[in-house]
Amino acid sequence: MKALVFRDNQLSVINDRPEPQPAADEVVIDVRLAGICRTHIEITRGYMSFEGVLGHECVGVVSRAGGAAGKKWLDRRVVCEINCVCGKCDMCLTGLRNHCRQRTVIGISGRDGAFADYIVVPQRNCHRVPETMSDEEAVFVEPLAAAIQVVKQVPVDSRMKVTVLGDGRLGLLVGQVLQSVGCSPRLVGKHPKKMAFAEKRSIRVVPLEDLKPANTDDLVVDCTGSPKGLETAMQLVRPRGIIMLKSTCAAGEPLNLSPLVINEVHLIGSRCGPFLEAIEMLAKKEVNVSGLISRRFKFDRSLDAIRAAGDHDSLKILLAM
Ligand SMILES: [Zn+2]
Ligand SMILES: [Zn+2]
Repeated sequence: MKALVFRDNQLSVINDRPEPQPAADEVVIDVRLAGICRTHIEITRGYMSFEGVLGHECVGVVSRAGGAAGKKWLDRRVVCEINCVCGKCDMCLTGLRNHCRQRTVIGISGRDGAFADYIVVPQRNCHRVPETMSDEEAVFVEPLAAAIQVVKQVPVDSRMKVTVLGDGRLGLLVGQVLQSVGCSPRLVGKHPKKMAFAEKRSIRVVPLEDLKPANTDDLVVDCTGSPKGLETAMQLVRPRGIIMLKSTCAAGEPLNLSPLVINEVHLIGSRCGPFLEAIEMLAKKEVNVSGLISRRFKFDRSLDAIRAAGDHDSLKILLAM
C-alpha cells in the first residue's frame, strides 16, 4: 500500500508498505481523508522520536475485522481515537485511559498512522460518523475534541476574561468552543487571513503587536505551538489565574518561570479530548470547520501537502487517499 513514512529524519512516500494486519480486537480502516496538523511538523523535528507512518486525524470506512467482535464495524464510516490503551493499568482503571502507561498513539508513538491506504486500530477506538456529516467535517473530530478538552479541564463562564493565544487551526477551534459555552474570548494572532476567520465568527481579535499585557486574564489558552506562547501567557494571566498549554514543542529556549511563582499561577497541560462531544458539536453545526480548510491534496502530493501545512498563512490541509 501507499504510505507517508518518516524514517532516518526523512519523509517519503512509499508505494510498497505491507498492508497492516489486524489483531483479534482490531479493525482495518480504508482511509478516505486525513488532516495534517502541527504535531506532524513537530515529529519531523524530533517530537516523540517517532518513526513510521504519520497521521492521526482521519475518516474512513472499516474494510476488515481481526475478530468476530469487530464485524459489526464492517462498511461503517468511522473516525478513531488516537490513544490505544491496555485497559488494565492504574491510569486505565481510574478512568484516565488517554494516559494509559502502556499506550501507543496512532501516528505519534509506537503505532503507524493514517497517511496510508489503510490503518489498523483497536475496534474500541472507533466512532461511527453520522450520515449527515461530510468527510471534510469528520476529519476535524480529533482536533475539535482536543479543543473541547479545554472546557473539560477548566469550568469556564461568561464572566471570565479569557484569551486564546494563536490564530492557527487549534486556536480557531478553541475560540469557537469557548463561545459555545457562553464565554467571549479574545484571540491573539499575527496572520491576517486567520484573524479574519475569527472575526467572521464574531471572535474579538487582537493582533500580537497591539497586545498590551497587564496580568489581567482569568484564563489564557496557549495554542501558539511555540515556546514563546508560555512567555506571553505569563504576562497576560492575572495573579492566581490559569494558563492552559495546548502546544507541544520539541525544543525551546530556556524560559524564566518565576512569574508563575510570583503570581501563583495555575499551569495546566491539555491534550486529547472527548470524541463523542466533538461529533455532536459538528453534527449540530455549533462550530464552523469548512472555513478552516485551506487546501486538499491528492495523496501522491503528500510531501507538497506537508510543506503547505507549514506555511504561515495556511489553515487545515487535507490529504485525500
Ligand atoms: Zn493533530
Ligand atoms: Zn492502560
